[in-house]
Amino acid sequence: MKKITLGILGGGQLGRMSAMAAARLGTDVHIFTPEHNSPASQVCARTIQADYDDKAALANFAADVDFITYEFENIPVDTVRYLETLKPVYPKPSLLEVSQDRIAEKSFLNSIGIETTRWEAIASPQDIENCIKNWNAASIIIKTARFGYDGKGQIKFKNGDNPDDVFHNLKGQLIAEEIVDFDSEISMIIARDQFGDISTYGPMLNEHRNHILHKTTYPSGLGTDLCCQSIHTIKNLAKSIDLIGVLTLEMFVTRDGRLLANEIAPRTHNSGHWTIDACAASQFEQHIRTVCGLPVTPSTNHSEASMINLIGEDVLNIDQYLNAPDTCLHLYGKTEPHPGRKMGHVTFIGIR
Ligand code: AMP
Repeated sequence: MKKITLGILGGGQLGRMSAMAAARLGTDVHIFTPEHNSPASQVCARTIQADYDDKAALANFAADVDFITYEFENIPVDTVRYLETLKPVYPKPSLLEVSQDRIAEKSFLNSIGIETTRWEAIASPQDIENCIKNWNAASIIIKTARFGYDGKGQIKFKNGDNPDDVFHNLKGQLIAEEIVDFDSEISMIIARDQFGDISTYGPMLNEHRNHILHKTTYPSGLGTDLCCQSIHTIKNLAKSIDLIGVLTLEMFVTRDGRLLANEIAPRTHNSGHWTIDACAASQFEQHIRTVCGLPVTPSTNHSEASMINLIGEDVLNIDQYLNAPDTCLHLYGKTEPHPGRKMGHVTFIGIR
């Protein structure tokens, strides 16, 4: 039996958990990351530590693997396009490109009939004034179109604020969004293999603190209609882009009961970590399967679950989880608990 070697671009905790799932399937993982001693490298036999524009290092990496994937979306598209000339890369770089740019992302979602909050590309302070006026809004959110995450690269702009300040504080192409009066935030994860077969997780209910995911609960407690609608939405999305791999869609549920898509992640997601402990096959196993040419498997959960993130110094208080029943502690091997840094997570089996 031929052993598969998968190359993963990026060395964070998502790569680490994918590599751990790969090990269970007898698949070797080779990490490519600029980071020294990355969380993923710590659980893999091989790592190339180099910059994403180092073509010689990328070529060596490609020569050593059968398939290539990535574990976060801010990998330069040129890197992935170059690698694609050498080995199969999944999900396809076109999806990465769309998910890196909020304007491309929202345009694409709207073009396939997926509703988002009202948005506008912003090129000047006057554009900001126009949005506030035309939307009749007391405040709006301005975000950088690229490289924003966990609330970074976004500010709330109130009617009467000076729009010049926005251009001083946020760099690059900007986008304005209407503020969603949401009841809850949810996410869906889908895995789709090369045969077009799919498996979905969710919808999950997500609670954020300081713009960072704090807690995920499954089942979400949403009514049947909204659950069906969110599953239908992500299936439509995965089919439209001919997905091979795993994809996450974050959505708002508005107070008047509508679903609005917020963000696509072309990868496994923090809101799917509970699947490691509460499903026969986790999101990470589906990731490995789909990008290595294997079939998806049913994603049925055997338990209800909730998950909380261990952010920054939360990781110094883990004694409470070490011998608690039905409590699964996951640490990412990071040594410096900086504020806002995801250090680990805890899954509680059963709803609490
Ligand atoms: P994002 O970086 O777009 O995922 O935003 C991070 C978080 O900010 C989201 O999970 C929401 O809690 C909040 N947020 C982002 N955009 C909006 C919006 N248009 N209306 C209301 N809340 C938002």
